[in-house]
Amino acid sequence: MVRRLPRKDVAIVGLGWTGSIMALELCRSGLDVVAIERGPWRDTATDFNIGTAPDELRYAVRHDIFLRTRQETLTMRNNSSQTALPIRRWGSFLPGNGVGGAGSHWNGQTWRFLPDDFRLRSKMIERYGEGIMPEGNQIQDWPMSYDELEPFYDKFEYVLGISGKAGNIKGQTQAGGNPFEGSRERDYPTPPMKQGYSQELFMKAAAGMGLHPFPRPSANLSSAYTNPYGCSMAPCTYCGFCERFGCSNYSKSSPQTCVLPALVREPNFEARTECEVTKVTLSGDGKMATGVVYVDANGEEWEQPADLVLLCAYGLFNVRLMLLSGIGKPYDAGTGEGVVGRNYAYQTGSGATAFFDNVNFNPFAAAGSLGAALDDYNSDNFDHGPHGFVGGASITNAYTNGRPIMYRPTPRGTPTWGSAWKKAVRETYQRVTNVGAQGSVMSYRANYLDLDPTYKDELGRPLMRMTFDYQPNEIKMANWMAERCEAIAKAMGAKTTQINRLNTPWNVVPYQSTHNTGGTVTGSDPKTSVLNRYLQSWDVPNVFVMGASTFPQNAGYNPTGTVGALTYWALDAIQKKYLKSPGALVQQ
Ligand SMILES: Cc1cc2nc3c(=O)[nH]c(=O)nc-3n(C[C@H](O)[C@H](O)[C@H](O)COP(=O)(O)OP(=O)(O)OC[C@H]3O[C@@H](n4cnc5c(N)ncnc54)[C@H](O)[C@@H]3O)c2cc1C
Ligand code: SF4
Repeated sequence: MVRRLPRKDVAIVGLGWTGSIMALELCRSGLDVVAIERGPWRDTATDFNIGTAPDELRYAVRHDIFLRTRQETLTMRNNSSQTALPIRRWGSFLPGNGVGGAGSHWNGQTWRFLPDDFRLRSKMIERYGEGIMPEGNQIQDWPMSYDELEPFYDKFEYVLGISGKAGNIKGQTQAGGNPFEGSRERDYPTPPMKQGYSQELFMKAAAGMGLHPFPRPSANLSSAYTNPYGCSMAPCTYCGFCERFGCSNYSKSSPQTCVLPALVREPNFEARTECEVTKVTLSGDGKMATGVVYVDANGEEWEQPADLVLLCAYGLFNVRLMLLSGIGKPYDAGTGEGVVGRNYAYQTGSGATAFFDNVNFNPFAAAGSLGAALDDYNSDNFDHGPHGFVGGASITNAYTNGRPIMYRPTPRGTPTWGSAWKKAVRETYQRVTNVGAQGSVMSYRANYLDLDPTYKDELGRPLMRMTFDYQPNEIKMANWMAERCEAIAKAMGAKTTQINRLNTPWNVVPYQSTHNTGGTVTGSDPKTSVLNRYLQSWDVPNVFVMGASTFPQNAGYNPTGTVGALTYWALDAIQKKYLKSPGALVQQ
């Protein structure tokens, strides 16, 4: 039996990056807010303690703070002629679980998308003509511009204390920063991280080739910082136990370090942890949300009535909740009609490994977002005409870690065990670096999310099915980027290089990136988007959706800078428009 609870103004599903920001700001707007989170409560002092935090086996290998597939999984296939099978161990991407979400164990690479990314379709056609658009694409312009989002990027960066060097302040190019970035109002709140010897070689080689390297914007802070919420952080120690770990040093921006210390002081905030939201409940005519239903740790079902429902459950799980709740028309790849699940996209990874003689790169002196990057081959910063593909990549030289179990780079062809492997590890560990390209993925009719017709979870609800593969455009782009990376690696003075092309077909087993985008995209037309420009459901106006599921296609960067900017953008619309006059913020 479902037991009904007293009404709240706002029910938030998920207490990661987007959920915690929404909760704090809406409490400060005077609303009664409940955040319902599937995983446990997590704090720095108790859960990421220095005595246990750098346990690679526990966190990086056994995924201690990640979602378990027995809690929720997907089925996957590469194309619609295949039968999808359930993912039984997370691999290619690692969803978060618990307070802080993936924001507690992320790397912290915090990018802004480029102005052209927001009007990609128009820009490509204007510059190159229709002929450049890849077959079967569903690339869409975003319904907001970079300039509109700029103040909200700024807000997110100042809450996180991002360390970086601006490349364009108020339209003026700044030496040492990224000259391709959109104009920003002011510099990053903290200076860039110290770069290692490998990044020095990369910057010198790239500059010598006429490229424009700069230090990567980082949520591993270069110096002590107190953010506008009064949360204080300490400088990063470059410990290298960063991605897949909580930071014991209060140096990695996360909900725990940047938002929750202020949120827990709000008297009108309540968190219910180890409670999984199973659906959004709707009024009889299906036009308004009446709240959410969740299952607690004892398996008991509760109904939480609320006036406003915010889905902040991570992109993929936002999509499943929309499908299970019957909000918006599900996408049908056969007819191309419907919107929920449409335009799922991901990220490409390619590059070159560079082997040196007589250097000690000390890869263990690392951090999740330490690194130097360049954007000369990203977005539309170069002439795509001769290459015949759309999209681009940020190119980076970085050390995220040199940890004892999983960091064992050896030249291709080395045996995977025995004395020859040990010798190669010994000889390579200090002398190898990587030039990597993180590339965009466009949206296609063939790549989508829907409910699986066969597999169900323990509550009898269909699992979500992912149908995804890299399309020829992405393969061409990523492999061209790998050659650019190899050229830089050679210019750095590598003795030998190894080119790493995009692995196809997409395989769910090796880790690639937790940058799943699309499925509840924002747009100007309800026929091709789930949400209007304020991330409000076209169909059920008291439901807003946060996260990378809102991206119409993915860009050549990590997503969270843009996820954060969009959260503050939507919040601004909720505070200034929706709360004054609840209803649709954009008329159809
Ligand atoms: C290993 C790793 C490295 C990463 N590195 C980077 C990086 O360097 N740069 C970058 O930009 N991005 C990075 N990311 C991605 C980044 O972490 C996410 O983009 C970001 O956390 C998304 O914020 P969110 O609020 O949408 O989701 P999350 O922060 O994941 O929060 C979602 C929350 O919702 C909860 N939830 C889900 N379903 C339910 C339900 N049904 N009921 C109740 N609660 C639910 C989850 O438990 C979770 O706590 C990385 C991710 C991982 C895993
Ligand atoms: S590398 Fe820096 S930010 Fe990352 S866990 Fe270590 S101290 Fe924290």
